[in-house]
Amino acid sequence: MSMLAQNKYPLRFQRHATNSHHPIFPTRVYCSPATTTRPKLDQGSITVEPPPPIQLTVASKPDPNDPSLQSAWSHRAWVASGCATVLISLAKSLTTSIDSQMWLEPTLAGLVGYVLADLGSGVYHWGIDNYGSAKTPIFGSQIEAFQGHHKWPWTITKRQFANNLHALARAVTFVVLPIDFLCNDPIFSTFAGVCSGCIMFSQQFHAWAHCTKSKLPWLVVALQDLGILVSRSQHAAHHRPPYNNNYCIVSGVWNQFLDRQNVFEVLEMVLFFKFGVRPRSWSDPSSDWTEEKFASDNIPQTLP
Ligand SMILES: [Zn+2]
Ligand SMILES: [Zn+2]
Repeated sequence: MSMLAQNKYPLRFQRHATNSHHPIFPTRVYCSPATTTRPKLDQGSITVEPPPPIQLTVASKPDPNDPSLQSAWSHRAWVASGCATVLISLAKSLTTSIDSQMWLEPTLAGLVGYVLADLGSGVYHWGIDNYGSAKTPIFGSQIEAFQGHHKWPWTITKRQFANNLHALARAVTFVVLPIDFLCNDPIFSTFAGVCSGCIMFSQQFHAWAHCTKSKLPWLVVALQDLGILVSRSQHAAHHRPPYNNNYCIVSGVWNQFLDRQNVFEVLEMVLFFKFGVRPRSWSDPSSDWTEEKFASDNIPQTLP
C-alpha cells in the first residue's frame, strides 16, 4: 500500500484562460496498492514521482464564435500551398506513370501511403496528447490545441476549415514540396502525394468524427461507415476513459492493433525509464481529459 501525492495538470487553453498571479496546485492524496501509473502493465515496486507543477491557468467557458476558431488569410494561404504540393505530387505521379506505362506499383504505393498516414496520425496524436506543453518549441501550439481539445471536443466542429488544417498544410509544404522537385519516380511521387494528403486532411477527418450524423454530407457518412475515414464511434472511444487509445484519425485501421498490442503503453514505459518523462494519460482521472459539459445554452455536445 502506498500513499502518493498527485498533482493534477491544470487546463491550458489559449484563448479562454487567464493567468493567475497566485497559482494553486490542487493536490489530492490517494491510497492505492500500486503507483499512480496505469494499471495494465506490471511495474513492480517502482515508485513514480508525481509530475512537476506547471503554471496554473483558469479556464472560462469557451465561446463558439471565438475569433481563434476562424480562418485567417495566412491559414488559407498555407492550406492552398499544402494542397498545391499534394496536387503536384499526384500530377507528377500521373505523368511519369503514363510515360513509363507503370500502373500497378504506383497504385500499391498510394495504398501504402494511405495506410501509413493513419499510423503516422496515431503516433503524432499520441505524442502531442501526452508530452510537452504550449511552450514546447515548434509543436507548442499543436500540443496546446490537441490537449485542450479533450476538455472541449466540440470546438473542433466550430473551427473553420483552414484554421483546422493550416499547421499540417505548412508541414506538408516544407517537407513534400522539395521532394516534388527532386523526385521523378512515379512510385514515390504517388506514395508522397497520397500519404501527405491524408495527413494534411486528417484534422478534417477528425472534425467530421465529432459531428453528428445529421450534419454530415451523406458521402462522408458512407466513407465513415465503410471504414475509409475514421468513424464517429471509434473516435468517441478516444474521448472516454481511460483516454489512452484510438489515436489514429485518418481511417482508424491501426487503432485496434495498436491498442490490443499495447504499443503506445510500451513506448510510454520506454520513454519513462529512459528519460523519466511521464505521459499525461498516466495521471487519471484529470479534468484535463474530461469533457466539460454545459447544462444550458446551445453549445453542441460531442457525438451522438
Ligand atoms: Zn487526443
Ligand atoms: Zn477528438
